[in-house]
Amino acid sequence: MSDVRDVIVIGGGPAGYTAALYAARANLRPLVIEGFSWGGQLMITSDVENYPGYPDGIMGPEMMAEFRRQAERFGTEFITDDVTRVDFSERPFRVWVEGEEYRANSIIVATGASARWLGLESEERLKGRGVSACATCDGAFFRDKHIFVVGGGDTAFEEVLFLTRFGYKVTLVHRRNEFRASQIMVDRARANEKIEFKTPYVVEEVLGEDSISGLRLRNTETGETEEVEAGALFIAIGHDPNTSLFVDQLDHDPNGYLIAKPGTTETNIPGVFAAGDVRSGANRRVAAAVGEGSAAIYSVHRYLRTV
Ligand code: NAP
Repeated sequence: MSDVRDVIVIGGGPAGYTAALYAARANLRPLVIEGFSWGGQLMITSDVENYPGYPDGIMGPEMMAEFRRQAERFGTEFITDDVTRVDFSERPFRVWVEGEEYRANSIIVATGASARWLGLESEERLKGRGVSACATCDGAFFRDKHIFVVGGGDTAFEEVLFLTRFGYKVTLVHRRNEFRASQIMVDRARANEKIEFKTPYVVEEVLGEDSISGLRLRNTETGETEEVEAGALFIAIGHDPNTSLFVDQLDHDPNGYLIAKPGTTETNIPGVFAAGDVRSGANRRVAAAVGEGSAAIYSVHRYLRTV
């Protein structure tokens, strides 16, 4: 069947574009269905300073545009829309974008994960202006500020500890008095003089017009509110994988992340691969996603030889 492609990549982030680049250069004529808002989490990231080759850093959106351009240069085709349905029950695998059907002998799922947000209008308005979901990306912009972090899990504690390099004070805001984070992280934070705890509190509003100036906090036990000055707010309340289209067909962990066989990108369906943040146990760095994207194409090659 002439309309059956070698590979369709679902997802336009670092893993997906890298897979496309390698596939295009190997003459596999990849189609990337990159999503309506392509680029993934890097589109809400400012300077990326931990990706090799950019000693002065690069803005996240610019980096994604360059990844995309490089894949395009070797003949990748793109559809800038969201996949609406998939059927991996038999080969060729089928993928739909609304009424349009696409078929391929192999699939790479690279739809990533999305940071959870509090859902406040003021949080949305001040994203990138003091409100962030990534301390390693944005922490350095807030030197000598009073930095706040929301969350009570390991990520929140990791971020709080990391941010003490920059803020003169870092306050962890958590809705309960008990933490979900591992005890060693809690002990480490408690031992750090720069770190303060504000529990049981939630952020009710982020204050400021063009940039953050403070927070209105509410005590979840007494209901009392107070306003505090703030130079930055980091939200660390977890991520959700973008896997709702796949969870009824691909093995996944209890949080919905796709399970690949150890050390591989192979899912439970031969010919379907998972790369980047969408994979259970992913380490959530651009460099790791890039590695998995290229590794997935290596596996696609091997797989296509068997079909
Ligand atoms: P998590 O463990 O699910 O913790 C999320 C935290 O955010 C919880 O404390 C939760 O509060 C809070 N939260 C959720 N929704 C909220 C909301 N709407 N408003 C206010 N607070 C909210 O997520 P995570 O910290 O990202 O960790 C994810 C997984 O990765 C965990 O298994 C963790 O152990 C692992 N991890 C490990 C390491 C490490 O080992 N170095 C580092 C990072 C992450 P409640 O507790 O009240 O539910």
